[in-house]
Amino acid sequence: MDKETLQRYVEAGRIAAEALDFGKGLVKSGAKVIDIAEKIEKKIVVLGGLPAFPVNISFDDTAAHYTPLPDDDTVLDSQIVKLDVGVHIDGCVGGDTAATIDLSGSYTDLVKASQDALSAAMKIVQVGTSLGEIGREIEQAIVSHGFVPIRNLSGHGIGEWSVHEEPSIPNFDTKDPTPLEEGMTIAIEPFASTGAGIVQDKGLPYIHSLTAQKPVRNAVTRQVLKSLSQYRTLPFATRWLTKEFPIFKVNFALREMNQIGILHSYPPLVDKQKGMISQAEHSLYVGDKVKVLTRL
Ligand code: MN
Ligand code: MN
Repeated sequence: MDKETLQRYVEAGRIAAEALDFGKGLVKSGAKVIDIAEKIEKKIVVLGGLPAFPVNISFDDTAAHYTPLPDDDTVLDSQIVKLDVGVHIDGCVGGDTAATIDLSGSYTDLVKASQDALSAAMKIVQVGTSLGEIGREIEQAIVSHGFVPIRNLSGHGIGEWSVHEEPSIPNFDTKDPTPLEEGMTIAIEPFASTGAGIVQDKGLPYIHSLTAQKPVRNAVTRQVLKSLSQYRTLPFATRWLTKEFPIFKVNFALREMNQIGILHSYPPLVDKQKGMISQAEHSLYVGDKVKVLTRL
């Protein structure tokens, strides 16, 4: 990666870190979830970045992939809140970072478990570290707190116009000998659960991405697709489209895109046994020296 490109990742990472920190300050009992999402996404733009995906605000037994609709009236009370923020600059996704805020006050150790797992994993990251070793560190840290890692969620490479690419970084010891290579940008994201440690899709998806381009007949769908071209293959929210189009047009277009096979939708991911879940995430550049992109 050339110096200028790396600079974009570094800047995107810094903005993601700031936006997450700002967002953590908004997570309080009585706050409206929709306001938090909108404020964080606005903050990203003010700081000079663009959201690499809709802000995820997921509660309790939901690990990820919840973002509110515009008319969402959820008010925070005593949930375990996972905030997950992504930022890109000119397509360079340099910041994917998450934190958990426990408003119940009863899950301090669960929050600590994913934080400790992330720290332990980051300590061993360097060129040549195997993916299995990272998974082992994460698993050991979470199990030592008495919880289980979520096995079917993993860290990942981040790249140009891409939030999820190779390598997949496991949250348990897979014994995968594949080494980290110089020049990789990666996100590590342990999830700790009090339940099954396996998540499954549950509920309606409000986050989507385009997977292909195909000609469409309907004018409404064409208009919506034109607007979506700005995101390329990055995830977008139903909520973002409703700023431009009435909700019935948005739903019509999403349905058609789904029918012709060019839409991938991401429903919320929920623990199979309704276990409570915490998450921690940082993005790193694996260079000669490892750089944490999303540390304040
Ligand atoms: Mn994330
Ligand atoms: Mn991630």
